[in-house]
Amino acid sequence: MDDDHEEGEEYLFKIVIIGDSAVGKSNLLSRYARNEFNLHSKATIGVEFQTQSIDIDGKEVKAQIWDTAGQERFRAVTSAYYRGAVGALIVYDISRRTTFDSVGRWLDELNTHSDTTVAKMLVGNKLDLENIRDVSVEEGKSLAEAEGLFFLETSALDSTNVKKAFEMVVRDIYNNVSRKVL
Ligand code: GDP
Ligand code: MG
Repeated sequence: MDDDHEEGEEYLFKIVIIGDSAVGKSNLLSRYARNEFNLHSKATIGVEFQTQSIDIDGKEVKAQIWDTAGQERFRAVTSAYYRGAVGALIVYDISRRTTFDSVGRWLDELNTHSDTTVAKMLVGNKLDLENIRDVSVEEGKSLAEAEGLFFLETSALDSTNVKKAFEMVVRDIYNNVSRKVL
């Protein structure tokens, strides 16, 4: 069924995670890639990435997921960070409105450094902090609709929707690529 692909051909997709400091970017990645969560994680400086293998319809797809690793505190996420990205998670913290207000700025930056076909997921993290929620689900949803983004609320703390958030992006990229090949 897959005659367009050489035997053993690999799919490797670069995905970046962006959003304000302390929204939970590093913990979303560590929860997804290593099933780890850190209550007092400190931002380390310098870019880091993790490579994760995902099975999509029997095909092995690799996602190389990049974490800003603290660069964003200095508004210094470089163009190298975005280079070659085909997917992005734009993360805010549902308990901190200022982080939601920043989403537009992150989208602008992403659009400046990458092309428009990047698969984008808006992620409202810290869903476990429902009792101090500061951004409604509807607000997240309508922003995502207006900007053409996927949308999920997640919790890196209790794992809600974490796998789904990454894998919906990977699946969308894969579908676009295989559509082009056919
Ligand atoms: P980053 O700066 O965006 O990479 O954020 P971190 O992953 O370093 O997380 C910042 C802080 O938020 C840390 O104290 C984490 O323990 C906490 N945190 C991250 N994700 C969650 C979550 O889903 N729920 C809760 N309650 N805290 C979280
Ligand atoms: Mg971090």
